[in-house]
Amino acid sequence: MSNTEVAPQEILCETDMTCVGVEILVPRQVPLGGPRAMDVRRTLPQRQRSLIGAWCFLDHYGPDPVSDSGGMQVPRHPHTGLQTVSWLFTGEIEHRDSAGFHATVRPGEVNLMTAGAGISHSEFSTPDTAVLHGAQLWVALPDAARHMAPTFEHYRPEPVTGIGWTMRVFLGTLAGSASPVATHTPLLGAEILLEAGAELTLESDVSFEHGLLVDSGNLVLNGHAVAKDHLAYLPAGHASLTLAAGSDGARVLLIGGEPLGEKIVMWWNFVGRSHDEIVAFRDQWQAEIGAPDGSGPASAAGAGTDLRFGPFPPGQAAALPAPALPNARIRPRG
Ligand code: MN
Repeated sequence: MSNTEVAPQEILCETDMTCVGVEILVPRQVPLGGPRAMDVRRTLPQRQRSLIGAWCFLDHYGPDPVSDSGGMQVPRHPHTGLQTVSWLFTGEIEHRDSAGFHATVRPGEVNLMTAGAGISHSEFSTPDTAVLHGAQLWVALPDAARHMAPTFEHYRPEPVTGIGWTMRVFLGTLAGSASPVATHTPLLGAEILLEAGAELTLESDVSFEHGLLVDSGNLVLNGHAVAKDHLAYLPAGHASLTLAAGSDGARVLLIGGEPLGEKIVMWWNFVGRSHDEIVAFRDQWQAEIGAPDGSGPASAAGAGTDLRFGPFPPGQAAALPAPALPNARIRPRG
């Protein structure tokens, strides 16, 4: 992956003359799930930044006319050691997983899948979806929780409104709105809509670092301009966040959390703690989908309890084989 497009760190001096580094993470285009599938704008991880709190991955996509992009077509694939957070602005996605959950992801509703020790799932935009627009984020599970049984949660936050703004808090607590979705480290996730010229100041936890993704419009965060599709990173230590929308208004995703404080090894769809652990996850996935070289069909998946990534409902599209491992050992980051 090329990271040459990453902007140099910019320095912002606030009125108290404390210089605070604000990193702007520039998106890169990545084809999702194969050459036929749509492109996503990936802002996390980057070479310079692996984590924001426990958030370890951010893909932002659309608005894509599904007739052009093919929409989201991601057949069964595995995950370990993380949670996936799906948040849509437009369109719908059908989710199916090996923990027995079958759900529709809809705008304004968070779907959170906890992989724990291992899960496999598929994600397809629904036949009725004409335009797909949203984000998928991953949260790294701390070592104490990463071997837990897989599960799935769904929550539709009640919007919180003020003068010129509307907020939906899907993880953690902000502006008096608390999500009931359990997290394994202190986390924040919210969608904020700002009307043209609106300004919003939020009290923030000084122990949290934050990321702000601009989905539409443009915006100034604590005095620093953030362009559409970019992710601004603020280190811990801020007691407040001030968002000021430009003349087009803005829609943003605000994420945050306490620094994870652990190094992770992340490769393909796996989060682990060592290269050897990732190799073992990959080997097990290839074995469970029924072909050591990954070329075979999806397993009919018996009901054996020793399956890390199964069973999976029959009659689905063939599972995605893992790519080849890199030649070098995968290094811990974070
Ligand atoms: Mn996935």
